[in-house]
Amino acid sequence: MFSLSGKRALVSGAGAPGGIGFAIAKSLRDLGAEVIITSTTERIYDRASDLGVTGFIADLTTESDCLELIARVGALDILVNNAGMTSQNDPLGADEASDLTGVTNGELPRKLLTKIAPSGRLHWRAAASWEQLRQLASNEGLTLCHVGDYRPYDQQLALFKSRMKPYPNAKVAKQTTREFKGETWYLHTGAPVATPGTSNHGWGLAIDAALLVDGKVVTITTKPKDCKRSGLQFLLKVAQDLGWSWELQSEPWHIRYVLGDKELPQTA
Ligand SMILES: [Zn+2]
Repeated sequence: MFSLSGKRALVSGAGAPGGIGFAIAKSLRDLGAEVIITSTTERIYDRASDLGVTGFIADLTTESDCLELIARVGALDILVNNAGMTSQNDPLGADEASDLTGVTNGELPRKLLTKIAPSGRLHWRAAASWEQLRQLASNEGLTLCHVGDYRPYDQQLALFKSRMKPYPNAKVAKQTTREFKGETWYLHTGAPVATPGTSNHGWGLAIDAALLVDGKVVTITTKPKDCKRSGLQFLLKVAQDLGWSWELQSEPWHIRYVLGDKELPQTA
C-alpha cells in the first residue's frame, strides 16, 4: 500500500464517530499522514484523541474561524472538505441530469431508467457509473451489490411509514423528525428515511451500496474492524472519481450520483 508519510492532511466535519469524515481521517492517519481534523463542536477533541491526531473547533461558514484555522494549521498537502450536509429537500440542483427537469420524484419514465446488476434500476447516467464501479470492484476481488436503488413514490411511502410514525417514540432520546402531510413524523425504527417524494432514490440517483461476501450481503460501514471487508475503503478510493458523493454522514452506504450531464471519466 502506498504511503502518505510526511504529508499533512486536514479533514473538516470529522466530529461524528460514525461519520465519513472520521473514517477518512483514520484512513489518512493509517497511511502515515499527519492529520488535523475539525468540527463545529467540542466533540472534535474526543475524535482527535480517538485517532491520536490534532483537532480544532472551527465553524467554516465564518470567515474569522477560517482565518484562524489557516493561521494555526499552516501549509497542507491534502484537504478534505467534508463538512456540511446536502439538503434532502432540494434534490434537483445544478448537478442533476437535465432530463430530470419536469419529471416528478418517484415517477421516472421508463426511458430514463436502466437495469443495473445484480438487480434493480437507476437513472441511466448513474447506472453507467455504477457499472464502472462494479467493474473496478471486481478488479479488486470485491462484488458490489446494493440494498436500495430507484425507489418509486409508493415504495418511498411504504418505507417511510414502516420506520416513521406521526407520534414520538419515548424510547429514543434524540428523535429524527420529518414534516409530512401537515404532521410531524418521528423515527421509530431503523435508519432515518427521507420524506416521500424528496429522496434521491426517487430520482434514480442514489444507491445503497453493499458487498456480496460468500453469498451474504454485507453493509458498507465505518466500523474500523469491518472497514476493509465492507468495501468502504474501496468506495473512498474510487467513488468520487466516478461522480458519487456521500449525502449523509450517518449512512456511509448511501451514495448519490452528482455528475449531472457530464461525461463519465475514463477509468482504466
Ligand atoms: Zn439510501
